[in-house]
Amino acid sequence: MTENRNAVLDSMPAQIRMPYTLTPGTATGIFLAELSKQRLLASKHGSEICFPPVEFSPRGEPSDGFVELAPLGEVVAFTETSDGVLGLVRIDGTDKPLAHRLIGFAEGQLEVGARVEAVWAEAPAGDSVLDLAGFGPAQGASGFAPREVSGELSESSEQIAYTMTLDYRHAYGHYYGTFFDGVRSDRRLRGVQCTACERVLLPPRGRCDACFAPTGQWVDVASTGTVQASSVVHIEFIGQRMQPPYVYAEIVLDGASTRLIHMIGNVDPDEAKTRTAPGARVRAVWSDRRTGSLADIEYFEVIE
Ligand SMILES: [Zn+2]
Repeated sequence: MTENRNAVLDSMPAQIRMPYTLTPGTATGIFLAELSKQRLLASKHGSEICFPPVEFSPRGEPSDGFVELAPLGEVVAFTETSDGVLGLVRIDGTDKPLAHRLIGFAEGQLEVGARVEAVWAEAPAGDSVLDLAGFGPAQGASGFAPREVSGELSESSEQIAYTMTLDYRHAYGHYYGTFFDGVRSDRRLRGVQCTACERVLLPPRGRCDACFAPTGQWVDVASTGTVQASSVVHIEFIGQRMQPPYVYAEIVLDGASTRLIHMIGNVDPDEAKTRTAPGARVRAVWSDRRTGSLADIEYFEVIE
């Protein structure tokens, strides 16, 4: 027996961020560094020219240096997205097109075969492909055949700080959808009761984790509870909402049979041993955010 079969909340926007260092290697490193000097470099492999530059050509020929390309080319293909136009641009004197932004085109002006020139970033960040902001309509940048690079080449950075960000939606399904809908809209915490052993499971799920019988009735659970175990988190990791050190606890809410893991906000980590020992009483402190997730509880506070 269930209520609200059609959970309003079907998913949650979520994100994974992965900061890491990119090791570009010599060819890509020099290519990126030279973009801030507004120069497009390719690598030379005998009579073959590779753009963007590589250490070895697709045929395995090692590079025998760099050449500078005129910042001019032709649109090979393009697609419009909600964030702008992406195109494949074949730079003059090269074979393989480069994917980049197409910017500054009037409506109807952009077509396959259109002549384009490099649009350089006004404030280059260094070591970024966006120091070449994209390609816009050709307006008379000077053309030349691939030529020797004049002056000194930039040094390649050995490592570049980088962050990969992946946005996605976390699908909730019926049980989490119903639960988090109550959390977001009414600050209501509900579990589901096992039809056999009558334990109340929170977070809710379709089957009991102890006797595997199906669950049935939704049951309101209090926002107060009892600590079963706690620990102090000292290390930093991605996705943390609190700056370490902080107290982390397994809490059984009044009326529930299972443990919920959350943070304790009003206890100094040095005092965790005594103040958040098993048996300590806690209460949820609701956040101003209404995200429809456990982050809607800012933290739990110890109540004396
Ligand atoms: Zn059960």
